[in-house]
Amino acid sequence: MPALTTNSPSETRALGVELGKTLSTGDLVCLEGDLGAGKTTFVQGLARGWGSTDRVTSPTFVLVNEYRRTDGARMYHLDAYRLSGPAEAEDLDIDTLLATGPLVVEWPDRIRTALPDPSVTVRFTDLGGDQRKIVVWSDGSDGSDGSDRSDP
Ligand code: ADP
Ligand code: MG
Repeated sequence: MPALTTNSPSETRALGVELGKTLSTGDLVCLEGDLGAGKTTFVQGLARGWGSTDRVTSPTFVLVNEYRRTDGARMYHLDAYRLSGPAEAEDLDIDTLLATGPLVVEWPDRIRTALPDPSVTVRFTDLGGDQRKIVVWSDGSDGSDGSDRSDP
């Protein structure tokens, strides 16, 4: 997927909706980028596209937010910003979360060794004002230009 530029929070949410429609149990989505780059805004779209109308907020006091769908399914949203490292993530039992729903992780680099390989990675860059660059890549592609290197 090529790099995209959004010009408003609602455009970023709309991209999230499209990815959210494709998510299922066991999918790990890693969201990279600085504070304020748009990760949590994107998750609002992800949850909606996946099928939850629950309010999406930044997981701060609880590390993992849960969003529910009317069929009882759950999606998990983890913010690793305040975690000191992978050891702390082990308490969260990531395998159990992934066994019961999709998992979205902000600041994945904080806990990288505690995470399996992501299904999808999204990188956000603040271009100033309301512009955000958003690059999405999936397992086996490197994200440098959006092309999939694993395909010969
Ligand atoms: P993060 O989770 O990466 O720290 P947030 O999504 O919480 O970022 O915050 C992004 C902030 O930037 C919000 O205040 C949002 O309204 C604002 N914003 C402005 N333009 C955009 C855009 N194009 N996409 C996403 N957020 C934007
Ligand atoms: Mg956030």
